[in-house]
Amino acid sequence: MTKVFNGRSATDEYMSTHSLTFSTPEMTLKKFALWLGEQVNAPGKGQVPRLMLYVEEKGEKSNSEFAPDTDDSFKPTGAVADMYGDVQAPAPTEQMTPPQLTPLNRETLEPEGKFCVSCGSRLKANAKFCNKCGSAQG
Ligand SMILES: [Zn+2]
Repeated sequence: MTKVFNGRSATDEYMSTHSLTFSTPEMTLKKFALWLGEQVNAPGKGQVPRLMLYVEEKGEKSNSEFAPDTDDSFKPTGAVADMYGDVQAPAPTEQMTPPQLTPLNRETLEPEGKFCVSCGSRLKANAKFCNKCGSAQG
């Protein structure tokens, strides 16, 4: 009999019972390792580290069946999904268009302005003459 730690089963169990969304990779790794090491009650065995629950006894089989699980059909979840998700890169042919600049509004730039004593045009606060009718300002 060969004892094999079923890491995939343990990982699946951990991910189905813990949210990884707000965790950093470092935190997830640490928490998973600590979770594996927690003492739990195993039927007939008393207190054992949790990883013992995922140790399976294999019969007389070739060693190749216990090779590392290299299944690469990795399905990202949580925050990782945002990085690896189905985000389509913008088409490279798409032209970048500069933002349209709106002409600056003089009236809002110069709230301290005044009005021509003669024609009523808006003038700069320090204007000596009206730039519309030419009247001297007080
Ligand atoms: Zn004027």
